Amino acid sequence: MDYYSSQITKLIEELSRLPGIGAKSAQRLAFHMIHMPQDQVERLAQAIVDAKRNVRYCKECCTLTDQEICPICSSDKRDHSTIMVVETTRDLAAYEKTGKYDGVYHVLHGAISPMLGIGPADIRLKELMQRLQGEVKEVIIATNSSLEGETTAMYISKLIKPTGIKVTRIASGVPVGGDLEYIDEVTLLRALEGRVTL
Ligand code: ZN
Repeated sequence: MDYYSSQITKLIEELSRLPGIGAKSAQRLAFHMIHMPQDQVERLAQAIVDAKRNVRYCKECCTLTDQEICPICSSDKRDHSTIMVVETTRDLAAYEKTGKYDGVYHVLHGAISPMLGIGPADIRLKELMQRLQGEVKEVIIATNSSLEGETTAMYISKLIKPTGIKVTRIASGVPVGGDLEYIDEVTLLRALEGRVTL
């Protein structure tokens, strides 16, 4: 039953496809947008389109950026021989916020999950292995301490071991099942400092 104009219904439908937005929230947002000033709506729409069009994966670390090489990878102040492997760009942001890590990153964009049918080929592992051809001294695995994160950590460690490069895993200061982005900076730093060699 279409209670509203079909255009409002379409807007509600599109909004409700977003993560964490249920039917009610979608409705609330849709009506909010209808009442927003025209120029504000246009800025919002343009920001979405621009971000989608211009944001891409960094050629080095695979994080999301609007440049070919992200600012971290192109900085000569960073230690390019230490690579921290994280699941998402949000995890990278969490470590950056601590301001205490001066290495570079590698963003996998996911974790291995046999249950969800996500295998090693579905995350950015091949790109990581390619980077190891260069001058790399240590790979710090900072995937989440969920089952998927641990599986991924084990897999990567086995893959890297034969190269002779040092592989470490962040300490278990991070609670099991904990999502890195929600953990405070002190805990993150403790986990990083207490990392153990695999
Ligand atoms: Zn990068």
